[in-house]
Amino acid sequence: MADKQLKLFFSMLSGEMFYVEEDEVKNIDKSCIPLKKKPHNCRKCFDRFHIGREVFKNYYIPCPRCLRLCGDFENMKDDVVIENAKSVAGIADKDMLGEIMKSEAKK
Ligand SMILES: [Zn+2]
Repeated sequence: MADKQLKLFFSMLSGEMFYVEEDEVKNIDKSCIPLKKKPHNCRKCFDRFHIGREVFKNYYIPCPRCLRLCGDFENMKDDVVIENAKSVAGIADKDMLGEIMKSEAKK
């Protein structure tokens, strides 16, 4: 049953979490954020991992709390792309993602 290692991702475009087999990870869309675990008892996002939709840019805003707790920063791609133009880092300037990633990088 659990022969293959499954990796959890959150798609900023669909707003959904999903599992991918380890050897398929390389095919993952760059708008997806790798997660170490699912959110648990989060009052901000109700364990959906997103806190709403950025309607103008058409992506889901990751929950800052869960991103900090569940984000797989070691496997986070620097060039995560939203709408083929905006990187997660670019979005982060306006959201909290950048601050979180910076603080993680210092560790
Ligand atoms: Zn949350």
